[in-house]
Amino acid sequence: MYFLALESSCDETAAAVFTEEPRVLSSVVASQMEYHTPFGGVVPEIAARAHQQKLIPVIDEALRQAGIRLADVGAIAVQNSPGLVGALLISVSAAKMLAMTLHIPLIAVNHVAAHIYACRLAAGRDIFPCIGLVVSGGHTTLFLCHDALNLQMIGSTRDDAAGEAFDKVSAILGLGFPGGPRVEQEARTGNPKAFAFPRSMLEDPHFDFSFSGLKTAVLYTAHGQNVSTIRPLPADQRRADLAASFQQAVIDVLVLKCRRAMRQFRIPRLAVGGGVTANQAFRGALQAMCAKESAELLIPPMNLCTDNAAMAALAVEKWRIGDFAPPDLDAQPTLQ
Ligand code: ATP
Ligand code: MG
Ligand code: FE
Repeated sequence: MYFLALESSCDETAAAVFTEEPRVLSSVVASQMEYHTPFGGVVPEIAARAHQQKLIPVIDEALRQAGIRLADVGAIAVQNSPGLVGALLISVSAAKMLAMTLHIPLIAVNHVAAHIYACRLAAGRDIFPCIGLVVSGGHTTLFLCHDALNLQMIGSTRDDAAGEAFDKVSAILGLGFPGGPRVEQEARTGNPKAFAFPRSMLEDPHFDFSFSGLKTAVLYTAHGQNVSTIRPLPADQRRADLAASFQQAVIDVLVLKCRRAMRQFRIPRLAVGGGVTANQAFRGALQAMCAKESAELLIPPMNLCTDNAAMAALAVEKWRIGDFAPPDLDAQPTLQ
């Protein structure tokens, strides 16, 4: 049985083919980075238009790499929520049309749950129950994951996502877009203790996050309180120290809340996904914390951390229990 999965929730157009084990036969991702870079961030209308242009070639390539034809596909999966609504609609419309014309089931997959399922896919075995953290440009959310389809949200960001904070701090420091990798690079030569930036909500007993105060603290420290225009900072030790101190503040909060969740729910297993997971300092801090806690850490390889369609293999779990989507399935922009 072959599944074809589509993804267009943000700025990656993706398609994948997998079987019911699940085993991934192909995973194709077309990035739109070049279209958005001149604007310093993802422009929703440009994203939707690019998905429209790229989706069919990406599907063709996924089928070709898997060595199958469209007629061989037995079910269509689509990540229909959450995301940019105009972007989501492109793959949701295509998936509905494919399911209808091929007379095969349509399966709706939650994109954030799929980010956690990427850990299950990479592990190749059951990983539930676990604590799950999705940390990307659009999400910073902690889950108590009872099983692949039953994720209980225990905390989320109240303002900026962690990746968004990286992108904005990159702009504040004049490092450009995409911010995450550039701030990480700059932080390599910086002192993470140079500036005492706030660790918001660190002591609070809940599992929510807040990163906008940290971002403002970096802005005021870098440019002063009366900043009206942001001029690029000189490439010196101070800029590296700002990047390193900011990065450390984000890491401290994320790692500590994960530890607290594992302790409170007595589940010594942590599954992490999303683009910020690319950050080596963050990975190192997670590894050190989990080693200390004698907890198991699951981080998928990079191609499964960032947006992709292979992680929609979560659809296999829904297919097993006959949980199919109606033919009028809609895109749902917010996390339900
Ligand atoms: P969504 O939030 O819907 O999953 P997205 O496109 O915003 O979609 P991803 O593609 O998973 O998210 O990740 C992109 C984010 O990850 C960006 O905010 C980027 O700055 C951040 N990021 C990427 N690499 C790094 C890094 N090395 N360090 C820190 N952040 C990073
Ligand atoms: Mg992305
Ligand atoms: Fe994502």
